[in-house]
Amino acid sequence: MRLRNKPWAKDKLMAYPQYVIANPEQWKGKWYEVFGNNNPLYIEVGTGKGRFITEMAKAHPHINFLGIELYESVIVHALDKIIEGELPNVKLLTVNAKDLRNFFQKGDVSRVYLNFSDPWPKKRHEKRRLTYKTFLSIYEDILPDGGEIHFKTDNQGLFEYSLVSMSQYGMLLNFVSLDLHNSNFEGNIMTEYEEKFSSKGSRIYRLEAQFKANKEGN
Ligand code: SAM
Repeated sequence: MRLRNKPWAKDKLMAYPQYVIANPEQWKGKWYEVFGNNNPLYIEVGTGKGRFITEMAKAHPHINFLGIELYESVIVHALDKIIEGELPNVKLLTVNAKDLRNFFQKGDVSRVYLNFSDPWPKKRHEKRRLTYKTFLSIYEDILPDGGEIHFKTDNQGLFEYSLVSMSQYGMLLNFVSLDLHNSNFEGNIMTEYEEKFSSKGSRIYRLEAQFKANKEGN
């Protein structure tokens, strides 16, 4: 993603503490207090400009959503969408996914979405891919036993890599689609990247991957 420096982004994010969580460590194990209810919490890692997470929040008012993004200059666009929609069930976090264990305990998160994650095609950057085994282990530690990752991408290389990485990790792969937009999947909500790439003719790949019910694999 091309990043423009936006020095005002930090101030804007700080001006909306009801939507942008400033000290996520303090909510570990009690995210229900942040949302004021016990509804399931779904997170999107690498939420970008927030179209997916905000449209999901509108479509599923009884689910809580948290958009997680590295860059303030990007996530500030997601904030605009939340303000405009006055959405009570979606909030934002500007952190690195590698630190998620600091903010969530096991079962705090009911589902993880990865949408159009950066492909990092060079082998020497494999560890940065959000479907590398160390990231899978982080997601496993914050999801309940048997928790799921829902993953979409236009990048065939990253998709193939993720199929292998997830299956080597012992995950169960469900609903693997090699052409999401020409499949019978219902209720797809497009991300900004998905709209951009599919309008240029790219195929969209999608899968759901489930962790084992317990670490012993029984
Ligand atoms: N999901 C959005 C979409 O589909 O339109 C954005 C896709 S963009 C290619 C990937 C996003 O993931 C970028 O905004 C990037 O900053 C974010 N990202 C990459 N690595 C991350 C990490 N370790 N933690 C949090 N966000 C990350």
